[in-house]
Amino acid sequence: MHHTSTAAAIAPELAGGVLHIDLAALTDNWRRLRAASGAAECAAVVKANAYGVGQAEAVPALWRAGCRTFFVAHPAEALRARADAPGAVIYVLNGLPPGVARRLAAAGVRPVLGSVAELEEWRREAGDAPAGLQLDTGMSRLGLTEAEAAAVVSQPPAFISLVMSHFVTAEVPDHAMNAAQIARFEAMSAGFGPTPRSLANSSGIMLPQRPHYDLTRPGYALYGGNPTPGLANPMRPVVSLRCRIQQIRHVPQDVTVGYNGRWRARRPSRIAIVSVGYADGFLRSASTRNLDAPLANAHGEPGGAALVAGQLCPFAGVVSMDLLAIDITDVPEGAVAAGDEATLIGDSLDIDTVAERIGTIGYEVLTSLGQRYARIYGADAARPGTATESGAAPASQS
Ligand SMILES: *Cc1c(COP(=O)(O)O)cnc(C)c1O
Repeated sequence: MHHTSTAAAIAPELAGGVLHIDLAALTDNWRRLRAASGAAECAAVVKANAYGVGQAEAVPALWRAGCRTFFVAHPAEALRARADAPGAVIYVLNGLPPGVARRLAAAGVRPVLGSVAELEEWRREAGDAPAGLQLDTGMSRLGLTEAEAAAVVSQPPAFISLVMSHFVTAEVPDHAMNAAQIARFEAMSAGFGPTPRSLANSSGIMLPQRPHYDLTRPGYALYGGNPTPGLANPMRPVVSLRCRIQQIRHVPQDVTVGYNGRWRARRPSRIAIVSVGYADGFLRSASTRNLDAPLANAHGEPGGAALVAGQLCPFAGVVSMDLLAIDITDVPEGAVAAGDEATLIGDSLDIDTVAERIGTIGYEVLTSLGQRYARIYGADAARPGTATESGAAPASQS
């Protein structure tokens, strides 16, 4: 049996789309990443509501699978994760905001200290409660510089439980920056003795240098994103988004569809309307236009598309707040009717493909997933190969 998210669950028939989140695939992906991490511990990055799939569901599922260390970005996320996994080690990647050290220490939450000022505040306010330390090896975002790290190393605080840094471009495996960051991390972390070290995100785990150290920190790949762009995706899909075709309209040649008339029927066309729009996080950059250029979005990419009756069908025109239009003219008339399903994410439209078509990255597709969908935590029965022998999708345990 499926079950829906507890907080204000939305019934599928009342929603514009149904988001399936396959927690079994999520935990399977974590096991695959753990195997790929060699001897290192494999953590889970669950910031931004677990990349949009739902922290309250993802964290307990990962905990039951054996994950013991979680990374979030903000202190508020950490306190929620603490409630979801009371026994877990929880790090706050974005460091220590002023005035919250005692609350974090009391909750057993560890900030990843990102500056000398944060280090000093933690030392002053949190006593010997453990914390991580960020080293800047090239991101120029958070973390101690080489000079600052050298000063800390001369008297390393005993409360540092993890020394870490972050790759700039690990998804490009032969980029010179990867080797440079590994070398810099080696040099900067050497003085911290046996303190556990961490460098690899999802793509970092897959780098030929295998920079796993003591702890890996995958996020995107857990949620089905491809950590090895250009190669086959070794992860299982976690998210699918399906919606009901509300009506099918026959649009005469030369008539436009949607706001600003950006798409004009070049032939008598059939247009399927679905109740999903940019307010559902289906990004406006998925809009297509065919007036001044061949079918494209504003960035020159092919623009959004849906799968209808197994066929890839481009969006027609601008994505509205609550609706979008799909050009189904090439789907045979008898093969699709109002009430049938359109797939916006799923099957051949995996999150990386969706992102590429609309000119963004799969991370943004995931973290934009809207709050108006019916969310079902279980395998998607419509997706080939995910149903169990009985034909029913396995229930999640959360
Ligand atoms: C988001 C983040 C990760 C996870 O990265 P993915 O590419 O999603 O695997 C790891 N470390 C840090 C510091 C991050 O900000």
